[in-house]
Amino acid sequence: MYDYIKKQDEEVFKALEGEERREESGVEMIPSENYVSRAVREANGSVMTNKYSEGYPGKRYYGGQTFTDQVETLAIERAKKLFNCQFANVQPLSGAPANVAMYFALMEPGDTVLGMDLSHGGHLTHGHPTTSINKVFNFVRYKMKDPDTGEIDYDELAKVAREHRPKIILAGFSAYSRELNYAKMKAIADEIGAYTVADMAHIAGLIAGGAARNPFDDGFDVITTTTHKTLRGPRGGMVLTRESEEIATKINKAVFPGLQGGPHMNAVAAKAVAFGEALTPAFKEYAAQILKNAKAMEAVFAREGVRMLGGGTSNHLILADVFGSLGVTGKEAETVLDEVGITLNKNMIADETRTAMDPSGIRFGTPAMTTRRMKEGEATRLAEIMIETLRHKDDAAKKETLRAEVKVLCEKFPVPETFV
Ligand SMILES: *Cc1c(COP(=O)(O)O)cnc(C)c1O
Repeated sequence: MYDYIKKQDEEVFKALEGEERREESGVEMIPSENYVSRAVREANGSVMTNKYSEGYPGKRYYGGQTFTDQVETLAIERAKKLFNCQFANVQPLSGAPANVAMYFALMEPGDTVLGMDLSHGGHLTHGHPTTSINKVFNFVRYKMKDPDTGEIDYDELAKVAREHRPKIILAGFSAYSRELNYAKMKAIADEIGAYTVADMAHIAGLIAGGAARNPFDDGFDVITTTTHKTLRGPRGGMVLTRESEEIATKINKAVFPGLQGGPHMNAVAAKAVAFGEALTPAFKEYAAQILKNAKAMEAVFAREGVRMLGGGTSNHLILADVFGSLGVTGKEAETVLDEVGITLNKNMIADETRTAMDPSGIRFGTPAMTTRRMKEGEATRLAEIMIETLRHKDDAAKKETLRAEVKVLCEKFPVPETFV
């Protein structure tokens, strides 16, 4: 690997090698990260990066599209099969531009979106005050009824919907550990004539693998997603439309030329490869194991009396109130766990009383460790190591012992090269 870079560019080579070692030698528990196969990396690093392909298969603005048309069509057909829908746009460069294109496809400036409150699990791209999109559209919020059960306050959601008449009801999150009731949201949207959109960036792999409910089964109009989280593809985005050709056409126009220029065909080729992997029976097992591993970690946190937002997890992630339960802030926890070789992130919790830079919570998940083929036994031990570390955060000798144990675990579970 990297033979040419090594000969030509020592500095970049060192950084790549360092990152490779870093990824191997610690346990990655950031719930939005994963390890892709060598096949996905080959496609992502392929000659497709040389090509301009503005437009869509069969309707391009430049010649020489025989093979780009082939890979984009493969990616589209595989995405449709994975998520059981009629239309797919695989060109969004990432999750954020996928959402921006979706907003402009379905709304006029000044229109309203009803989305999940950001401190209750929603994502930056769902109208955070610091984002550009917040200047263009109006965002109103729904929340959890009770942060200790995670249930959404659907009565309040309906009330806000009737009052603000949003054009879009947006389901989706990046820090929420339970399933949403898509059918209820769809019924409320139908009552006020709103579109239903699910941003399933975090759980796309769970849906594709049959381990989480598909919002299209409850009649949702559109799904936006990243392709690099649980779906285990290259860094990128995608917009899916269940059945409306009218919506799909608007989405295509909003992606190109509305928002983007030439698609990154190397990434599109890598998406096709990743979707091919996700269509295999092995991926179903993978998705199921992600949940089993999260449940194993949940059991340890429950046993040790650490408060989990939503009361636990039904998906791939856990949000723990480490400040409330262990007196360690989210920032301290992130740093000290990094010292023992466990990477995760600090996170605000619902009704946060601290700051965004040093909140009460940590967020962690099992997609990447499950890719390394770790199972419930390892997940249980990792949860114990996490809590032991936090309880002895100033004990250097203890941390050294735990770091050594994490290292042994990583050596036992190398990152696989292939999943099929
Ligand atoms: C990660 C994420 C995004 C943004 O994806 P990027 O690829 O980082 O732009 C959007 N929405 C949700 C819910 C996410 O979790």
